[in-house]
Amino acid sequence: MRAMVLQRFDSALVSEERPVPAPDPGQVRIRIKACGVCRTDLHVVAGELANPRLPIVPGHEIVGIVDAVGEGTRRRVGERVGVPWLGFADGTCEYCLSGHENLCDAARFTGFQIDGGYAEYTLADERFCLDLPREVDDLHAAPLLCAGLIGYRCLSKAGDARRLGLYGFGAAAHIIAQIARHQGREVYAFVRHGDDQAAAFARSLGAVWAGSSDEPSPRPLDAAIIFAPLGELVPRALRNLRKGGRVVCGGIHMTPIPRFPYEWLWGEREIVSVANLTRSDGAEFMRLVEQVPVSVHVQRYALADAQEALEDLRAGRFSGAAVLVP
Ligand SMILES: [Zn+2]
Ligand SMILES: [Zn+2]
Repeated sequence: MRAMVLQRFDSALVSEERPVPAPDPGQVRIRIKACGVCRTDLHVVAGELANPRLPIVPGHEIVGIVDAVGEGTRRRVGERVGVPWLGFADGTCEYCLSGHENLCDAARFTGFQIDGGYAEYTLADERFCLDLPREVDDLHAAPLLCAGLIGYRCLSKAGDARRLGLYGFGAAAHIIAQIARHQGREVYAFVRHGDDQAAAFARSLGAVWAGSSDEPSPRPLDAAIIFAPLGELVPRALRNLRKGGRVVCGGIHMTPIPRFPYEWLWGEREIVSVANLTRSDGAEFMRLVEQVPVSVHVQRYALADAQEALEDLRAGRFSGAAVLVP
């Protein structure tokens, strides 16, 4: 099989021919139909995350068909499954036992510590595979597995905020904006200075306002979610909050947050982060997508063009989500 492999940090992915792997007990082998390209993959490639593994096949938004099963699995050959970022949690630590497996000390992550979806086949622990909404095809289901799912966890952390700011209007925001709107919230989209295309994209998906992230919000926000990896957005978002409002940081990595006066936080404003996902987030989100019409915008790339997809993502050359198709 072909796999696009990160051999060294900060270097281009290398196309390798590898034997098709055989599943161990509890694992399924998946013939990959589509794999999303996530901003986290840029941080994996850059070596910006703790406890990496090399070489690694990136990709944690995997949609495919089970084509072989290990001993003792419940999944059957022919089932369609999704493989998200959380590839393993021990089920025994204090976090797992209290419903926070997203924080598990022994967690391992797909496309980071476990070979992922930039390939024709992959292996996955069947307990961490997700069922996907039936009416969404493979290409459009892939971005749901992280952009949608982590975005949804961020949206949940925003509580019942009616006026919601979204900083960075990429794969996650474009899905979450539609869900937020369906829930009756007002979406304010903050994009890179001068990125008129992203602002127009946000408006087309129902944002009541879209403008530059260095502009003040036209109205005080109840909550803001930051998807862009820029620490400078934290104090900016904070300044746009009403008292008691909350800033949710959704990215796995951010540049340092600049210092700011305490009075910007005063008034019971909060700054929180969202880390990873739980399987119940996954099940809940996929059920929601069966009820809420979400239009996922994808930019399709051949598997062999994974490097180009990463570079286009870094440069902001497309709207929505990039997806690799083997
Ligand atoms: Zn655990
Ligand atoms: Zn991701």
